[in-house]
Amino acid sequence: GKGLAVFTSGGDSQGMNAAVRAVVRMSIYLGCKVFFIREGYQGMVDGDENFVEASWSSVSCIIHRGGTVIGSARSMDFKEREGRKKAAKNLVKRGISNLCVIGGDGSLTGANLFKEEWSDLLQELLKEGEITSDECINYQQLHIVGMVGSIDNDFCGTDMTIGTDTALHRIIESIDAIVSTAYSHQRTFIMEVMGRHCGYLAIVSALAAGADYVFCPECPPPIDWPERLCKKLKQERLTGQRLNIIIMAEGAVDRNGDPITAEKVREVVVDKLQQDTRITVLGHVQRGGNPSAFDRVLGCRMGAEAVMALVEATPETEACVVTLDGNQAVRLPLMECVRRTKAVAQAMADKNWDLAVQLRGKG
Ligand code: ADP
Repeated sequence: GKGLAVFTSGGDSQGMNAAVRAVVRMSIYLGCKVFFIREGYQGMVDGDENFVEASWSSVSCIIHRGGTVIGSARSMDFKEREGRKKAAKNLVKRGISNLCVIGGDGSLTGANLFKEEWSDLLQELLKEGEITSDECINYQQLHIVGMVGSIDNDFCGTDMTIGTDTALHRIIESIDAIVSTAYSHQRTFIMEVMGRHCGYLAIVSALAAGADYVFCPECPPPIDWPERLCKKLKQERLTGQRLNIIIMAEGAVDRNGDPITAEKVREVVVDKLQQDTRITVLGHVQRGGNPSAFDRVLGCRMGAEAVMALVEATPETEACVVTLDGNQAVRLPLMECVRRTKAVAQAMADKNWDLAVQLRGKG
């Protein structure tokens, strides 16, 4: 059978464990030898005890756990060619030439680069006497399948990334908790949620919680937003509402691309309306806790499909990413999705807001 390894990289998200579990069990079911690599790319570069051959039971009791039990890391070493060469040697020495990477667009970009360099790296390792010519021939193809683990839902090509649904649950629970105290004291609450480049969490949680106003990175508000915001808040109070909720993505900006911070919004509300206004930054709470049913099942489906993609790969097969389209798990070319994701970021950097929203919608 094929030698296969799974690892998690970049920021953690809930449901990654379900994906790791599915990769391990599907691999064993199909007769492959499967490893996990601890601590993402850094573990791949460092080798040794970071490579663990997995058994059916080594992924027992993890489907319900948040984060990633095999660890994740940001690796400077893997960004250097020397580091990737070490990683290649560690893989070949263990008979691994199939990788399942679970991470964000950075991790997937790194994986694609690794695949492109692979045969050159092997040739160099052969010349240096680090691997044998048999190893060089047996493992000449590196196959890569990605899965997107991210709470932000910031990746083009998939309806949902692994972890987004759970993060929304955390946010909604927190808003509900805030609403009861805000109601008692007739307060206005500004809740900052994650999303540096993507307003998905902010917009969906604002809809689900019935918030009064939302700020997000892709679609900055009109320049007279302070007046509009205050008019809306005042209107709500006049119709008898005892509280106001404003949701902000951490990456919220105005039309000039300058940050709109929670503090700035608070100043506006206090200055113009004299409302008792408090800020809550949810922070890592959103990454925490057990994954929702949706993220567990999403992780399982993505993981199983990823192994199928590796098993069916031919020498011509490009690196792919397993995504959700409608209710279907599909395989898309990895670099195409990464390019589209980067195009959204570029449109935002260029302050081309219409294009950013349009590209995001297509994603
Ligand atoms: P995410 O995957 O969540 O976007 P990062 O962008 O931090 O997170 O990427 C995680 C890791 O992936 C980095 O620490 C690095 O080791 C690797 N990586 C990211 N981009 C590249 C790249 N262009 N080339 C090589 N490795 C990369």
